[in-house]
Amino acid sequence: MLTDDWFTVERIDAVTFAISEYGHWEKVHSFLLIGEKKAVLIDTGLGIDDITRVTDQLTTLPIYVITTHVHTDHIGGHGSFEHIYVHRADQRWLTKGIDGLSIEQVRKGISKEITKPVPPSFDPETYEPFTGEPTGLLEDGDMIDLGNRKLHIIHTPGHSPGHISIFDETNGYLFTGDTLYDETPVYAFYPSTDPGALIESWEKIAALKGVTKVFGSHNSVGLDPEILMEAKNAAIFLREHDLARFGTGIHEFNGFSVKF
Ligand SMILES: [Zn+2]
Ligand SMILES: [Zn+2]
Repeated sequence: MLTDDWFTVERIDAVTFAISEYGHWEKVHSFLLIGEKKAVLIDTGLGIDDITRVTDQLTTLPIYVITTHVHTDHIGGHGSFEHIYVHRADQRWLTKGIDGLSIEQVRKGISKEITKPVPPSFDPETYEPFTGEPTGLLEDGDMIDLGNRKLHIIHTPGHSPGHISIFDETNGYLFTGDTLYDETPVYAFYPSTDPGALIESWEKIAALKGVTKVFGSHNSVGLDPEILMEAKNAAIFLREHDLARFGTGIHEFNGFSVKF
């Protein structure tokens, strides 16, 4: 398998790879999905190092970047790609920067708890998050055809207004971004998040048929689809107890947690 100083590449199958940044506390994953005619890269990581060093070794096909959502840890390498797509509701953040997030906060977050050597090109004092125009916009229900592999775009707002999940119908892989992952709480406590929308998004992805594996963007790579039923039950519980509101704190469930 490919080895790299900064990125950890994990082969999910012959045409699907997780590209992880375990040297940073957020343990963020980007995912490369290779089709017949083109490849899709779901997010581009932190931008601490150059992700194309890895993607260039994995495919020679044109790469289309799909953004799960516009947060600094998911768009870091966007500037290295020609084709980038984002949901309409996060577009403005991609072009102009994230509302209410100062450059000082961004630089503090990016330089915190780094446990691997970073390249000389990375300087937290001058780090700038990507901003730029997308090639195109995504909507709920869009389908991206990679030749022999169809990806469905599912709008899953809550963690951000334009957050999307991606369902690879051919393999049953569901990429949930920051809508659902294990180990650390899913964040829905900043002003730009929406706890009510987040739990509706859990119900929406739990209704999908044929999911074989769930891939969140942080922590463990590849979760049992059972987590979707847990998320659906969590949504019902939180709604019934009027807990899907800001300030209600951390709620723990079987296999994941959320912070409102
Ligand atoms: Zn996020
Ligand atoms: Zn994230």
